[in-house]
Amino acid sequence: MRFQSLLLATGFAALAALPASAALPKAESFPTASGNVTITPIFHAAAIIQAGNDRIYIDPAKPADITGLPPGDLILITDIHGDHMDADDIKALSKSGTVVIAPAAVQKTITQAQTLANGASTTWLNWKITAVPMYNIKHNQPNGQPFHDKGRGNGYVLTYGGKNFYFAGDTEGTPEMAALKNIDVAFIPMNLPYTMTAEEAADAVKAFHPKIAIPYHFRGQDPAVFQKGLAGTGIEVRVLDWYSNTAK
Ligand code: ZN
Repeated sequence: MRFQSLLLATGFAALAALPASAALPKAESFPTASGNVTITPIFHAAAIIQAGNDRIYIDPAKPADITGLPPGDLILITDIHGDHMDADDIKALSKSGTVVIAPAAVQKTITQAQTLANGASTTWLNWKITAVPMYNIKHNQPNGQPFHDKGRGNGYVLTYGGKNFYFAGDTEGTPEMAALKNIDVAFIPMNLPYTMTAEEAADAVKAFHPKIAIPYHFRGQDPAVFQKGLAGTGIEVRVLDWYSNTAK
């Protein structure tokens, strides 16, 4: 009896000490031959991708609220910039055995990462992961250097259950993007000066015609303009909430 009340007391203490969990925006689920893939926005370019028991994070970074989120089995990082690569968040969302996949430039900081180069593919459990180049063509820094050099960062195509999910990373509409085939769901960035305008993003998407396009990384741009730009193309646009879940 005494033991039981002790347990109760410690139970209450633990409960009281738990921080409030992040209030994640609404998730989207996509059917595949191996069951649903559920994708939940976290913030800006960060998302959780789940299927079965597999939990994948992409680009978890501040100021996303990741309080109370369970660790990932796989963490994908696209680039070195602070809105994509955050050592604290990667650590907070890692457990023993978490695999991190990233380009070599990221691995300089996130030293536990396995590297994947532009154009290369790897498999992780039942997923195929292909790195797609992401880079600037015309939106450069005032000194003429691109914000994103070709070869440094990775967009990713995740193939699971016969469906292809593309996270473009920080990029403009590149020839490599235009050459993508059979993309079911594409996450496309738009913001200046770093990536492209909403109109340019719509043109980039028309070139490879995914079934569904989801704007992300769009701070400062109006995703409705992107949606309007794709009207009548047969490409479904879904606008999700990427900017409410910030750390308090
Ligand atoms: Zn970015």
